[in-house]
Formats: sequence, structure tokens, C-alpha cells
Amino acid sequence: MPNPFQNALQQLKRVAKILNLEEKTLQALSQPDRILQASLPIKMDDGSTKIFPAYRVQYNNSRGPYKGGIRFHPQTDLNEVKALAFWMMIKTAVADLPFGGSKGGVTVNPKKLSPTELERLSRAWIRAFQNFIGPKKDVPAPDVYTTPQIMAWMMDEYSQLVGYNEPAVITGKPVEVGGSVGRDTATAQGGFFVLEELLKTLKLDAKKQKVIIQGFGNAGMTMAKILSKNKFIIVGIADSQGGIYSPTGLKITELEKHKKKIGTVLNFPKAKNVKANKFLELPGDILIPAALENQITGKNASRIKAKIILELANGPTAAEADDKLFKKKVIIVPDVLANSGGVIVSYFEWVQNLTNSYWSEAEVKNKLKKQIAEAFLTIWKISHQYDIDLRMAAFVLAVKRIEAAIFKLGFKT
Ligand code: NAD
Repeated sequence: MPNPFQNALQQLKRVAKILNLEEKTLQALSQPDRILQASLPIKMDDGSTKIFPAYRVQYNNSRGPYKGGIRFHPQTDLNEVKALAFWMMIKTAVADLPFGGSKGGVTVNPKKLSPTELERLSRAWIRAFQNFIGPKKDVPAPDVYTTPQIMAWMMDEYSQLVGYNEPAVITGKPVEVGGSVGRDTATAQGGFFVLEELLKTLKLDAKKQKVIIQGFGNAGMTMAKILSKNKFIIVGIADSQGGIYSPTGLKITELEKHKKKIGTVLNFPKAKNVKANKFLELPGDILIPAALENQITGKNASRIKAKIILELANGPTAAEADDKLFKKKVIIVPDVLANSGGVIVSYFEWVQNLTNSYWSEAEVKNKLKKQIAEAFLTIWKISHQYDIDLRMAAFVLAVKRIEAAIFKLGFKT
């Protein structure tokens, strides 16, 4: 199986062909600007010391400071971080943010660390990469298994090192220490605004759409709440233990209480339990993967019934499924657009920190809506202009913007 970075390069090659990209641009975008690696020795609570491999990959900063989250995960490795940094470069350009792309990680299972060990690890990551990050250099954020609390520790460590309070060094912080209101719900909220635009474009009635959501965590649960508030009919929801289905619609507030009480969505009254491997194939109009990567594959793509797929998760659709679904006229709203609400509001947080003035929730929401709707409409136009799917259209838009910046700056020789 190709590693994620090879996948990213395949995507880049496809775009290069569509755009007739100059060889030197293709070369410039085929590798990161900088790869940083460190070993972080952490004193454990029992007095022993463990060493954790850590990474920061800075892919491209032609459009602005590098920007990208930090992932704490046992399977994180350099190839994954390189691919994620590449996709961040694409995502910030799709949303037209004045940022480049980067990503960081630590190979660790954070669930096995105590809070004090986790704090020491977070602070050690900042000390290792302190000279390469900063509000005008590279601005990290949360990713898988990193939280607002971790961002607060990291900001504090950086502030201690530079000798003054510097909230703009990192986004996704708690609001008490310079975080933006609306950041916690931004990913789902952005996805919802894109869906609204898409339904308007297709002239479909939102209230008649039956929705299936895979994942009931931050992204999936917030999306379910927003959709149900807006009268969509949510017929299926799954978590890591399996899924539930009710053709007449699930009551989300009750489901949230049920999940809190028993730890799963399964056995919800008036709904049928569904096996995980059948869940994505349930009857419905809109499918929202909001859990893991590689869920829609060459194997199950032909059995998917939904006509719209909104990718709140990163990488939920395998490359071989894309072509099959495009032929079936299924519209996939790609992750680089559908879940970009998170990085857009991260940008708002950075702006607020730099200007030291803070916005209301309504202001954040309105600005998010404007920015993400504009990105959707541009991508929609490009997909029709080139007769390509929305994912390739998003890549075309992003690469065009990055190439324009590279040319204006002049190739460094
Ligand atoms: P989370 O940990 O809060 O929730 C993940 C959910 O997925 C949980 O409900 C879990 O039970 C469920 N899940 C795990 N394995 C599953 C399986 N096999 N089948 C069905 N459900 C399963 O994570 P999150 O923050 O909601 O992130 C979910 C996805 O969205 C990830 O791909 C993440 O990269 C992406 N994303 C999240 C954000 C954000 O702001 N939270 C931003 C951009 C992208």
C-alpha cells in the first residue's frame, strides 16, 4: 500500500496534468521546505525516562506563515506528517487564508500518559522546535488527540521562552487564554455552511434530506446538533461500537444523553442497531463521514446509496472510490473544503490575538460563512469548467493560488 505522502504526490501529479504546471513548480511542490525531527526525553511519573520521536514538517510558506496542527498518535510517522503538511498547504489555499501549510506530530499513545506526563511532553515539543515556530513563522494548532488544554500549555511554554505573553503562536486555545469563541464548533459549522450552499445550488429542499453521520465526537455530534436544529432528518448515526438507524429520524438531544449515560449510541429506543460494515450503505441522501480515514473504498463505493458525501473527517474516501462515485454522479464535498471551518476560525483566532481585539460569536459565524461559501462557489465553477470532481477542483484552485505566489516571490536559485 502506498504511504500517505505517495498518495499526496499522486494527487499533485494529477493536478499538474490538468493545469499544465511548469516542471519547476511541480518540483517545488513535490517536497517540503523543511523537515524537523527531535527525540523528546520525558520523565515519567514513576521516575523512569521515555523517549518519544517528534516531528514538524513545514511544507510551503509562499502565501504566509506555515500553519498546521500537531498530532499525538501511536501510528504517527514522518510520511504521515509530510502528507498532512501538504494537505494543510492545499486547505489554507482553498480557503484563501494568508497561510502556508505545515504539520507536527509525536509518536505516542497519549491515552497511556497521565496529565502531568502529557503536559511535560507538550512543553518538550515546544522547546524542541521553538526556533522554527512563532506567529510570523509557523503557527501550530490541535489535531488528533491534542486538545485546547495542550495548546494552552504549549503557548505558555513558548511565552516563557520568549519572555512575554504570545497567544498568536498557536491556535485552538481555550477562550480564557486567547482562544476564539466558536472555534470548538467551527469544523461542523463550516461543513454545514458548505452543505447549505450546495443544496441551494442543486435546488434541493434541506428539510427533505435524510442524513447519515459516521462518528459522534466533536465533528459528528456538533454537525448532528446543527442539522437537527435546521430540520434535517438524521436517520443514522454511528460511533466506534456500531451504528443505529431510524427511517423517521433520530432525536439528537436524547441521543446525546443516551450516549453520555451508556457510552455508545447503540440500543437507542425506537432505532435499529446496524453493523459497522453495513452502516455507510444505509438508505439516505447525504452521508457525512466524521470519524476515520479510508472508510469509503473501492469495495463499498458501489453500494453507497447517498447522492452527496460531505467529508468532515480527513481522508475518509480512498482514491479508488473517488472515480467510481464520480461516475455514479455522487457529489463528494472534499475534506480540504468541507472541514476547513476549523482552520478558518484558527485564522480568525490568530488575527484576534495579533490585533488584541476580540470578536463576538455572531461575528465569527458570519465571517466563517462568507469565507467558506465563497470557496465552495469557486470550486463548484472550476469543477464544471474542467469537468472534474470537487476534490480535484479544490486542488486545482489551491495549486493555482500557490503557484501564483511562488512566481510573484520569484524562484529562489
Ligand atoms: P473525536 O475523537 O471527537 O470523534 C471521533 C468519533 O468517531 C467518535 O464518536 C468515535 O466513537 C467515532 N469512531 C471511531 N471509530 C469509528 C468507527 N470505526 N466507526 C464509526 N465511528 C467511529 O474526533 P473529531 O475531532 O470529531 O474528528 C473526527 C474526524 O474529523 C477526524 O478525521 C478529524 O481529523 C476530522 N476533523 C476534525 C476537526 C475538528 O475540529 N474536530 C477538524 C478537521 C477535521
